[in-house]
Amino acid sequence: MRNGEQKLSYRLNPAVGWNFLSGGQALQLRFPDGDHLTIDDEAMAASEILESLANGVEPIDCGDMVAEITTLLMDRKALVANRGQSSDWLENMLEYVLAASNRHAGPSAFVEKARQTTFSIRGEGWLAGIVSEACALAGLHVDEQPGPEGHCIIAIADRIAHDAFSAINRQACESRTPIVFFWREVSRIVCGPLVLPGESACFECYRTRVRANIRFGAEFDAFAALPVSHRDHIGSALAEGAARSFIARQLLAIAAQAYDLIEPNALYSYDALMLKLDRQALPRVPRCRVCGVLRTEPTRAIRTLA
Ligand SMILES: [Zn+2]
Repeated sequence: MRNGEQKLSYRLNPAVGWNFLSGGQALQLRFPDGDHLTIDDEAMAASEILESLANGVEPIDCGDMVAEITTLLMDRKALVANRGQSSDWLENMLEYVLAASNRHAGPSAFVEKARQTTFSIRGEGWLAGIVSEACALAGLHVDEQPGPEGHCIIAIADRIAHDAFSAINRQACESRTPIVFFWREVSRIVCGPLVLPGESACFECYRTRVRANIRFGAEFDAFAALPVSHRDHIGSALAEGAARSFIARQLLAIAAQAYDLIEPNALYSYDALMLKLDRQALPRVPRCRVCGVLRTEPTRAIRTLA
């Protein structure tokens, strides 16, 4: 930034591009959704304004043009919060998608909302390190203690940790704290369920459904009881990059409470090797011992009195 230039609280989404048309007489703006818009007047001055907005600094004074272009970009949800070098292309694109899907939100409403959520990480190992990196990349607030606004627990293990996950799931449901689970299955990263206590399926619902659908219950129980071993920690630079992007994307959607982008009653698994994303529906178990009717004493039915 040059001396005297004032930093703005917003900047042009890096996914927005522009180029000159008609030998420099006009300027074409290209938006991430594939839409184009042409500015016919004073293309050179308009490009200088765009350059300033892309750098997040006060544009040079060009009369009404600055206000006109800024308003146009705000209407198109093409401005994002200005966080300087920490801004990430994927995050900005996600921000654009979220803002564009909510016409009433301001240009940085998504980011403002996301920054109010505190994530607490529970778990250790290869994947826990990647989740921490993903949070840092996405600029998400991580703390051991819940923050004053939104709070979400991230439970992680390098292999599905049934007992540990069940215990933390129960605590989260009792304290009505949202929680999301991540684990690894060979080359796949599994995300889910995202538990909104009292509203969506919990980890116990998942465990109950898996247990009910397998043929050999004893084998399942024996595998579930196995401790996570050093072999589950084996990392891979290729898998790490893919996992980091996937996890950052999921956490940003959670932070923004964009439940159309990460559905609570579902499990997502991303295969970094086969480049495959699966979504598996997870309905609540009505008689779940943690989140269902069984968590309280059954009410006495009239027939039991007869
Ligand atoms: Zn449940």
